[in-house]
Amino acid sequence: MKQKQLDKKVIKGIAVSPGIGIGRVFIWDSEEYTISRHVLPENKLPLEITRFEEALIKTRTEILEIQKKIAKEMGVEHAEIFDAHLLVLEDRMLIEEVINKIKKEKINVEYAFVIVLKKYTNIFLKMDDEYLRERLVDIQDVGKRIIRNLLGKQKQGFFELDEKVVIVATNLSPSDTAQMHKEKVIGFATDMGARTSHTAILARSLEIPAVVGLKTLTPAVKNGDIIIIDGNNGNVIINPPRPIIRKYQIEKKKFLDFEKGFSRFKTLPAVTKDGHPVVIGANIEFPEELASVIDHGAQGIGLYRTEYMYLNRTDLPTEEEHFLAYKKVAQCMKKNTVVIRTMDIGGDKFLSHLNLPMEMNPLMGIRAIRFCLAQPEIFKTQLRGILRASVYGNLKIMYPMISGIDELRKANEILDEVKQELRRKRIPFNKDIEVGIMIEVPSAALIADILAKEVSFFSIGTNDLIQYALAVDRVNEKIAYLYEPAHPAILRLIKSIIDIGHSEGLWVGMCGEMASEPVFVLILLGMGLDEFSASAVSVPEIKKVIRSVTLEQSQEVAAEVLTLQSGREILEHANARLKALIIDNKK
Ligand code: PEP
Ligand code: MG
Repeated sequence: MKQKQLDKKVIKGIAVSPGIGIGRVFIWDSEEYTISRHVLPENKLPLEITRFEEALIKTRTEILEIQKKIAKEMGVEHAEIFDAHLLVLEDRMLIEEVINKIKKEKINVEYAFVIVLKKYTNIFLKMDDEYLRERLVDIQDVGKRIIRNLLGKQKQGFFELDEKVVIVATNLSPSDTAQMHKEKVIGFATDMGARTSHTAILARSLEIPAVVGLKTLTPAVKNGDIIIIDGNNGNVIINPPRPIIRKYQIEKKKFLDFEKGFSRFKTLPAVTKDGHPVVIGANIEFPEELASVIDHGAQGIGLYRTEYMYLNRTDLPTEEEHFLAYKKVAQCMKKNTVVIRTMDIGGDKFLSHLNLPMEMNPLMGIRAIRFCLAQPEIFKTQLRGILRASVYGNLKIMYPMISGIDELRKANEILDEVKQELRRKRIPFNKDIEVGIMIEVPSAALIADILAKEVSFFSIGTNDLIQYALAVDRVNEKIAYLYEPAHPAILRLIKSIIDIGHSEGLWVGMCGEMASEPVFVLILLGMGLDEFSASAVSVPEIKKVIRSVTLEQSQEVAAEVLTLQSGREILEHANARLKALIIDNKK
């Protein structure tokens, strides 16, 4: 009986970021409240108006508190964003309209406020003036806070957390996750999501244990519950008894020791036993990750996801911001390559302040290079920043989501225009800067020979390549079982991209998550991949695999798996070979 009760508290999901987190639950609300209309007796109306005023005062106090915290932790410029929020709170027109509505229609304050907010949103949406349109985001943000306070809901925001917590949410956007701090967030667990969603990838970069795709977790927990996140096995345990907590504390220590076991590989070169060298790079989202990149022994940056610079703000990054960020990365990595991927906005990373129309299939919509070609001025600002920074190190440019030669040529035309402009202004840049593309759309893989003639390198983006080739949404937990990197179709595609790249004289890297999984490292090495790029934490383990085998052994395994018929068979076979090779190496 006891066992049964215990079992009920264990929910199985998808392990996406390793480690064990034990702590109290903090439910991250998606803030989609249902607000209904209530007609009230006349004598109750003054109370509604008082509630409104109190909510405004509370919201103001909260914003001032966040402003103080942000100014302290991130600098005054970041805190100034909230000045606009304070202005909304003082908007007499908005306030009076809500009060008049309550009085006239004799209704509850929440409903009156939501209706007035909606009216303002519509007015701002129609404005041509970009500055005024940007104010919409402030209005919406403050609006959410006021509604939350009216409903007596708990305050949100990672900056407002006073103690370390485990975040539980239906879903977390990459923007939410980007704000997480290891000091405040012990781990997170979500009902939705899958292994290669950007939220999951960020968790690995931030080294926060995480489990996603738990489907039924949020209804099963409340704020303050004790929870264990097992990011190694994908289990979440709610209100565990003491012996289980102790067991996981031991697991946590074991995991940290296991990680330490790899640390001797950090400083060793990535060469096979018979002397074949490969490059191990790191994927980053923010320059703040550089210390971890160096610490884990990466030989460069194989993917800089620059779109994170555009998130969690109400304006676009300026050329100077781009320049300073890339300069910092270039200088820090010295002679090592830094591949700057031009922004990949769209898909699961939205810019709410640009008010882009909602799409039915955002992952197949105006994303990445498509967005940049549609908004050349935004694209040019970034390209200018990259080119200006190119004199400070070994920067390369990489375009995401290229699906055909015309897109590549258009992107290069814009790059040429920017170069011309810099030349005219006598601003220095590396005129030989290499330009490569991500191969992450199946059409690009199939015309790799055509594309190869106009680029300097390929980087295989398996996170997207798999979703587009297998028609499996990478963020949908319901079909996560179909998202198979070992699928023979994927391995054939990868082999063909590498072979074509090599026959055209290009180096071929991989920056998708597949490049960090030991079993695939073995196969990819055998297929001839030149560069592996993954979260910094994965670098030592990749090196370990590379250093445990000869090139010939890996080539044998690659040839063997290409004769097999299903992903399951391929995984079984390659895992067995990997185990034998690594054990053999220990003898
Ligand atoms: C990929 O698609 O494999 C990739 C590395 O890019 P992202 O995960 O940012 O889409
Ligand atoms: Mg991609």
